[in-house]
Amino acid sequence: MKRVHFLGQAKVELRDVPAPNLAEGRVLVRIRCSALCGSELGAYRNAGMNGNPGHEAVGLVEEGGEKFGFAKGTRVGLHAVWGCGKCQACAEGKYTWCESRIGIGQDFHSELALVPAQALFRPPENLTDAEAVLVSGDGLGVCYHMAKRLQVKPNAFVVVLGLGPVGLGHVMLQAFLGARVIGLDVSPERLAFAKDLGAQSVLDVRTVDVVKAVKDLTGGQMAQVVVEATGRPECVKQAFSMVAHGGTIAQSGECGSVTVSPSEDLIRRDVGWVGGWYFFFNESTEMVDLVRKGLQPGRLVTHALPFKDAAQAFALFAGGKTGKVLLTNA
Ligand SMILES: [Zn+2]
Ligand SMILES: [Zn+2]
Repeated sequence: MKRVHFLGQAKVELRDVPAPNLAEGRVLVRIRCSALCGSELGAYRNAGMNGNPGHEAVGLVEEGGEKFGFAKGTRVGLHAVWGCGKCQACAEGKYTWCESRIGIGQDFHSELALVPAQALFRPPENLTDAEAVLVSGDGLGVCYHMAKRLQVKPNAFVVVLGLGPVGLGHVMLQAFLGARVIGLDVSPERLAFAKDLGAQSVLDVRTVDVVKAVKDLTGGQMAQVVVEATGRPECVKQAFSMVAHGGTIAQSGECGSVTVSPSEDLIRRDVGWVGGWYFFFNESTEMVDLVRKGLQPGRLVTHALPFKDAAQAFALFAGGKTGKVLLTNA
């Protein structure tokens, strides 16, 4: 079978590798559609960095699914994080909290993938493959997981700092839930896209004094929530200057370390700073409910290319102007 292989220096090739062997507790899935994720770009650009070719996908059950209730040909969404299946966290569908969980890096940009039965989600048939990928992967999952935590009130001001695919997902979801969203980025394409997805205002951080602009747009009160989706230390600092008293900074961008003053930044302004990693398995069902209520996650997808054109898809995605980019095998 073919799989995407990162060579570093922004080079990708399709390699012939042996198909995975069916193993105990696992199901072989023929991938139909997989999404590119910003978290893969490190390995894409840097040779020798730990590869992560694909962790958001849907496919059809090929082999080994019957005993778990998945007939051959059933469409399944693949979760990239799964737990032991035995502990309390797993029983609650919170695989990310399982102490013996398996992390991200699941090789889903392939023709076939071997996935534990407990990581398979069955999206309703009326969802397109693109929608099914988004509700079963972190493309929407990260945004939903955070939104549930934030419980933003209707008409509250939400600043989204960084409009990569995850930031755009926050924009779309928060706007859908009724917030007044202000999107910040450097890319004119992504700023325009954020407006299409429901942002009330967008600000180009290169040309605008964004702290002053957010103050003006919010009538002086600043944002009830700032979603930090860049992971850059200077942007994390900036988030603290855009949040209202009593507000919350939602840390969505992975970031190694940053200097924060608990007294100045948090305590004296009653500010909260929360994190959220990936999402819970059982939240896929809740995201499907939002699709029933009118959320259109497929709008996050700007490009879909055949699997054989993976090199082109990565080049496009790494250019920093797209929304979600898909590889299709159908
Ligand atoms: Zn991802
Ligand atoms: Zn567990």
